[in-house]
Amino acid sequence: MIRRHCLALLALALSVPAMAFAGAPLKVVATTGMIADAARQVGGDLVEVRGLMGPGVDPHAYRQTRSDIVAMTRADLVLWHGLYLEAQMEDFFHDLERKRSVIAVAEGVDKSMLRAHDDYVDKYDPHVWMTPALWREVVVEVQRALTEARPEAAEVFAANAQAHLADIDRLTAYAEESLSSVPDHNKVLVTAHDAFGYFGKSFGFEVLGIQGISTQSEAGLNRIGELVDLLVDRRITAVFVESSVSDRSIRALIEGAAAKGHEVKVGGELFSDAMGEDGTYEGTYIGMLDHNITVIAGALGGEVPDRGMDGKLSAGF
Ligand code: ZN
Repeated sequence: MIRRHCLALLALALSVPAMAFAGAPLKVVATTGMIADAARQVGGDLVEVRGLMGPGVDPHAYRQTRSDIVAMTRADLVLWHGLYLEAQMEDFFHDLERKRSVIAVAEGVDKSMLRAHDDYVDKYDPHVWMTPALWREVVVEVQRALTEARPEAAEVFAANAQAHLADIDRLTAYAEESLSSVPDHNKVLVTAHDAFGYFGKSFGFEVLGIQGISTQSEAGLNRIGELVDLLVDRRITAVFVESSVSDRSIRALIEGAAAKGHEVKVGGELFSDAMGEDGTYEGTYIGMLDHNITVIAGALGGEVPDRGMDGKLSAGF
């Protein structure tokens, strides 16, 4: 009798943690805000996502903090970008992947769709989120990673991913329509660092960054002088600042052009490597790109709706 009672208790003790696990959200840690957003969109209520890099944070320079390390060692799944974006965290992730479930989501993108890196022969430009058609590949990779971690939720993840991919496709259509309305001679995008290569390639813009693909290389005075001449010669009237990079070099361009009698204005602030504030529309992937597309098209003479694709942007024109 006593023995049977003990067995019953043992069965109860074993079943409780199992039930709790089935109901608990999957704990996901993601490096960039864009990857965290993809995990939230695909995972819905079944995931609890922590993004390590907030608004204005530069992923090229970011190093893991002590609390990041604690969160990653407690997570069920860790998602990072790869393609040498988190250059200062590469060794950390390669070490962590021996112990935890760690996936570099952008490494899954077909390499034939990637641009070469300016500074390294064997590396690619990591800024794939700048083109919705490329980012959808990463979303599919996030879906695959979540499904592997929680196979019983495969159908929910698939349905959520389909809905998000439909929004991404709508964004592609909006980008094509808005950006093609910019007059051809204005299709030049001058920014602080070279984050917009994929954007330029997809939408027919010439892209000129003061710094290279990584923010880690110094912007030389020669490069500033070269770009000032180009702004003056080609009568380019707008350049763009970035939320995650200092605007010092962009200011130097504007002053340099002014000294030569050519007025250049700041066309707006773009989200290059980080999204907007948490809890805002610009703090989502769709909102971030909608903002960039609308600001660029509006500042360079294109026709865009005042508040973007869905009228949700916080600042209009
Ligand atoms: Zn960058």
